[in-house]
Amino acid sequence: MNQLVVMKFGGTSMGSAERIKGAALLCEEQYNRRPTCVVVSAMSKVTDLLLDTLRHAEGGDAAGVETNLQTLESRHRETCLELLDGPLAEETLLLLSGILNEFARIARGVLMLGERPPRSVDEAIAVGERLSSTLIAAYLRSRNVDAFAVNARDLIVTDAVFGNAAPLLEPTREKAENLLKPELEAGRLPVVTGFNGATLDGRPTTLGRGGSDFSASILAAVLDAEELWIWTDVDGIMSADPRIVPDARVLDEITYREAAELAYNGAKVLHPRTLAPLMEREIPVWSKNSFRPEIPGTRIVPTTADTPSGARAVTSMNNVALVSLEPASALLSGTKVMARAIEALAATNAEVLALSSSSYRQNFCFLIRQAELPAVVERLEQAFSLELAHGYLHPIDIDLDVGLLAIVGEGMKGQAGLAGRIFTAISREMVNIIAIAQGSSELTIAIVVRKSGVDKAVLAVHRECGLSAPAAL
Ligand code: ADP
Ligand code: ASP
Ligand code: MG
Repeated sequence: MNQLVVMKFGGTSMGSAERIKGAALLCEEQYNRRPTCVVVSAMSKVTDLLLDTLRHAEGGDAAGVETNLQTLESRHRETCLELLDGPLAEETLLLLSGILNEFARIARGVLMLGERPPRSVDEAIAVGERLSSTLIAAYLRSRNVDAFAVNARDLIVTDAVFGNAAPLLEPTREKAENLLKPELEAGRLPVVTGFNGATLDGRPTTLGRGGSDFSASILAAVLDAEELWIWTDVDGIMSADPRIVPDARVLDEITYREAAELAYNGAKVLHPRTLAPLMEREIPVWSKNSFRPEIPGTRIVPTTADTPSGARAVTSMNNVALVSLEPASALLSGTKVMARAIEALAATNAEVLALSSSSYRQNFCFLIRQAELPAVVERLEQAFSLELAHGYLHPIDIDLDVGLLAIVGEGMKGQAGLAGRIFTAISREMVNIIAIAQGSSELTIAIVVRKSGVDKAVLAVHRECGLSAPAAL
């Protein structure tokens, strides 16, 4: 759609009445200039609280459930009363309590059943975004902006992988054209819930934690937006997580590929799947700070005219597991073990973050997210049950005391000596390197180290690659 901007606000950007007012101003500014579609996350920590409530319910802790329900209720009620007054406040409070009642009904159902069916979890945790979208849409209306809240369950069509669903773009496009386009053309401002969707037959799904970025990029793609702006709580995509590296620098521009590598390797600032829907139409993305909107932020573009040489950013990930397989007998081909293990991994939908092998002992190891470990181990044990039972394969080794470090940059390609300098910098910190993986594109070097060494290694590599912001004079 001509000139359309899609803008997404993350949890901290929606975290209080004051933040919602700030976000609404940013919405208004664009809305007064061009067609604007907004996507919002739940208020900060709300999704965690919803999940925690369901855990209490599953464990039979009725008192814990009620306490959480009260916390949820009072946070949203207070925010509402800070934002609005009069009949609009009354009307909005009613909408909020209707949504909260839906959540309470599911939580009490889980309490009775003693289990959390994935489908109910997805329906329940989408409530955070429904509450926040209701709040900001009402506040915008109070400022005479013709805004309305949309539940993405009516808009984003996904497969049925509950908790980590993938969008089906064609049916989503159709829905967006029917539901959003006429409203946008009529000068209205839709405020869509991030994070959630539904299957073709209407079962509620979610897109994975942090998935509101992905919701926004899906909508930008199907509406053929001119730009996507992702408002967050840092000045843009930085050379490292500023929580680990205080002098990390904001990158003015990076490519889709670099941003995707960073996101897949743990940079929380973007959901890993955000860029995929945008590639075909090459829609540019801005990552911006809603606390400091005057700063331009980072522009994520399909390609850059001149690639800066060397590394651009370092990222890390802690909730990972290193799984190693090693034949105990020469009768077992290492290559075949590898092939079958990868097949087992594929069957669980687990994502391999790094993979490394040694031809001599024919062992190989791969890194996955800890959340995916139980399913992967079960599948591997099934696939190799005979070999394990007869001792042809050593017992599967699982190492949880590891973390991943990734150094990313299009300009690392062909830079002789860079990898050596990186390894030396890590070793100088007395951090042991457990495994190394470099993609064939030379865009990323991934290094597995002990968990206690991850932050030290990030700092050391960041320094070695000269990525710090210039010191203030
Ligand atoms: P939102 O709620 O807006 O989606 P997130 O908390 O998901 O925000 O992501 C923003 C956070 O990502 C930042 O506060 C920052 O600590 C973290 N982060 C990790 N790596 C990076 C990076 N390379 N650049 C910027 N922020 C990063
Ligand atoms: N509220 C969801 C989460 O906390 C989605 C998001 O914030 O992007 O994971
Ligand atoms: Mg996020």
